Amino acid sequence: MKRKGFTLIELLVVIAIIAILAAMLFPALNKARQNAMKASCLSNLKQVGLAFHMYANDWDGLIPAYNTYWHSRLHPAYLNNREVLRCSFGPKKAPGATYWFYYCMNIGASGVKLLGGGIRNMSTCILVGDGYHTYSTDPATAYNNAINGLGSNYDDNCYMGRYGYAYHPVYRHNKQANMLFLDGHVDSIPMGDVYVTGGQYHYCSYNVSGIDWSPTY
Ligand SMILES: [Zn+2]
Repeated sequence: MKRKGFTLIELLVVIAIIAILAAMLFPALNKARQNAMKASCLSNLKQVGLAFHMYANDWDGLIPAYNTYWHSRLHPAYLNNREVLRCSFGPKKAPGATYWFYYCMNIGASGVKLLGGGIRNMSTCILVGDGYHTYSTDPATAYNNAINGLGSNYDDNCYMGRYGYAYHPVYRHNKQANMLFLDGHVDSIPMGDVYVTGGQYHYCSYNVSGIDWSPTY
């Protein structure tokens, strides 16, 4: 019996099947990677929350103000690893990037009395989370900068919320931003749940899902 080799058509069919299987697999792998980064970011924020509570315990209930290099007030005294102050979304450094994905403080919660201060909305008021400074007033550029870690020179003093333009949450995790709240719990908030005034990339104002940018006493 004559042995028949693979024809070109057979080979191409096999290659096509492999390509289809790979194409089906890649989005699943990418989604798994995204979920892992999101979970890691939430875990970081949880540790940052513990550090804030330890700091407040030592400082008469107060937490650092946003403009006092608040990262340096927590690290290394209350956090061993500075990487915990950084969202795990992307690589540490990229060409052209100055600082990468460090968390930003809600300016409304800056320097508040976290312990024993009588704040009523501890569980709905944001303390820190996924945010970004960018100098661009163009919405598309601002979002691109925030996602790719470009066009900012802030890390220790990063803040967001009711101040200036383009200091806002960044929805890095499948259109969700991870946030640490004053009571120490962490959560992901979906894009669109926070309204911003003065245009899409201006400062944060009211919201539709019970997230507060100012503590109430
Ligand atoms: Zn994050």
